[in-house]
Amino acid sequence: MTIKVAMVGRPNVGKSTLFNRLVGKRLALVDDTPGVTRDRREAMASLGGMSFLAIDTAGLEEDGDTKLSARMRAQTDLAINEADFALFMIDARAGVTPLDKHFADLLRRGKTPVILICNKAEGRAAEAGIYESYSLGLGEPVSISAEHGEGLSELIEAFDKVIFDNNLVVEEEPGEVTSKAVYIDGEISDEEADTEGEYDTGLPLQMAIVGRPNVGKSTLVNYLLGEDRQITGPEAGLTRDAIGVTYFYEDREIRMFDTAGLRRKSKVMEKLEKLSVADTIRALNFAEVVVLMIDATMPFEKQDLSIASLVVQEGRSLVIALNKYDLMENRQEIMKDIQETLEHSLPQIKGIPIVPISALTGKGVNKLMPAVFEAYRLWNRRVSTAKLNKWLAATVAYHPHPSVKGRRIKMRYMTQVKTRPPTFAIFCNRTADVARSYERYLLNELRWDFELPGVPIRVLMRKGD
Ligand code: GDP
Ligand code: GDP
Repeated sequence: MTIKVAMVGRPNVGKSTLFNRLVGKRLALVDDTPGVTRDRREAMASLGGMSFLAIDTAGLEEDGDTKLSARMRAQTDLAINEADFALFMIDARAGVTPLDKHFADLLRRGKTPVILICNKAEGRAAEAGIYESYSLGLGEPVSISAEHGEGLSELIEAFDKVIFDNNLVVEEEPGEVTSKAVYIDGEISDEEADTEGEYDTGLPLQMAIVGRPNVGKSTLVNYLLGEDRQITGPEAGLTRDAIGVTYFYEDREIRMFDTAGLRRKSKVMEKLEKLSVADTIRALNFAEVVVLMIDATMPFEKQDLSIASLVVQEGRSLVIALNKYDLMENRQEIMKDIQETLEHSLPQIKGIPIVPISALTGKGVNKLMPAVFEAYRLWNRRVSTAKLNKWLAATVAYHPHPSVKGRRIKMRYMTQVKTRPPTFAIFCNRTADVARSYERYLLNELRWDFELPGVPIRVLMRKGD
């Protein structure tokens, strides 16, 4: 179900400007033809990873105040009756006008939840208007500048809160998870009641293979591309463009980031080639899942770690391919070493999959690709709000945050604000006092209980009573 959001307010407060920003296209221009009266515009919009249908009620012609107000009323009624919630905008620079009050009265009488927005809030000229807006009786305003794109994170929070408070996210029935113990018993994995995200949209999975020179990247790419016998070259359906090469692995379409280093290279180039940070960043921009390749015959180096942490920082899914397994003698030992180094150096992301392979013989590649698909699935994972809140209550009860200066830290509710990577918001009365160690505790428990190993999940503490 698509959430519908109506944007209401008197002319000139900035509705179209915000609409355009949320919709991301200059749709307004289309409607600016003189004489054409469009009463409302609708378009799919997005904010902070949430998609919704935005309904703008702008575009009313001014033809006398009485008429205008009657028509606005009709428009507003229409918008708010259909909408799941409304964004009521005022111009903070102009302060609260009689027309704003008129709107606020209409909105207060209705049942539709309202987010009060003070627009044009950049700079000091807006301060008085922001204070004044409390008098509208619609709660705390969110101050933004639609034109400059300021205050959007506060707007995201307000969205989350309205969506949560009004149960607007349509979700599957929560499972019968009632206690901490149940999670630990692992029953959550049997339910799989959560939506699995958009990993099966038919779109190709975007993957990059990164690593230091000579670890075997080209060898792996050649192996992967050669594996599907139907694809032998550009003529036979293998499409190569400036940044990617598309191929199929067991009927799954994959787009692989094709660094210059992966192409046929001259001897000179080969010598000069170094994995530059710029290259990695380019790969990261492209990829959803990053395979970091390590040469098992070489020590795990600082450079490997910095690539790994860059991948995690950028919120991409990470899989480690431990290559040249055929040359390895003390295999167990090396695996354990790398595992320990990773856990120690990247404690925020426990459980990164490490797959031993031999790109030369192809051994283990049949395990690498499923690990890539799984990393992608988890990256797209969505957990229901109901489940998260049960989990939060249980986890906080199990190990409460100590009081700070004699006052309790209350974690009130929790919701997943986006996927790719899974990002969660916990609403808390005093975000500034939450200990880092407690955030880590929550993150680790979350990872464990919802089975998100190796995923760069994020937990945001947000203010909310
Ligand atoms: P609408 O009639 O409510 O749709 O308002 P518009 O979006 O057409 O905006 C009215 C005017 O306010 C335009 O000149 C915008 O450029 C301006 N405006 C919109 N947002 C802001 C803002 O955040 N700050 C400032 N200073 N001006 C803005
Ligand atoms: P790249 O610079 O990361 O693209 O590395 P290449 O793919 O060019 O590989 C560097 C060297 O390692 C080549 O001589 C490969 O034949 C060799 N190589 C790659 N993978 C393996 C492997 O799994 N086992 C062995 N023994 N050699 C490998």
